[in-house]
Amino acid sequence: MGLAKLSRLYRAVILDHAEHPRNRGTLVTGTAGVTMTNPTCGDALTLQVQLGPDRRIVAARWIGHGCTISQASASMMTVAVTGKSVAAARRLATTVSELARGQAVSDADLAALGDGRALEAVLDFPARIKCATLAWWTLQRVLNQLTEGAAD
Ligand code: ZN
Repeated sequence: MGLAKLSRLYRAVILDHAEHPRNRGTLVTGTAGVTMTNPTCGDALTLQVQLGPDRRIVAARWIGHGCTISQASASMMTVAVTGKSVAAARRLATTVSELARGQAVSDADLAALGDGRALEAVLDFPARIKCATLAWWTLQRVLNQLTEGAAD
């Protein structure tokens, strides 16, 4: 797929995140982190998430390499989850997976994705679904790690 097939608005949002990635970097060692890859495209992503005392996400940082969509998706995901509870962050990942399966999602769920709603257009292209969803699967893995043995 060429990005040219996307609407101008969504393309601009994705390119902005790819060219000016938000929350790129690492947190101190000991913070929960997970690395995942998308071998079909060569995308790789390491995500760290830090919870505050109230169990909200106070920081999410990522490093990685790969295609524009995978890197933009990681940037958009970290912006969307910062300040959210674990449950709300999980809900965002669920929304993306519902979009990837072609299911209808509510306007409220779509709006909660923030710039990440631009992925809605990408998810219409089966060849790029893994690129768009990598960051969100990685998020789910990190949240599972953070909540192992603890209630959300
Ligand atoms: Zn990719």
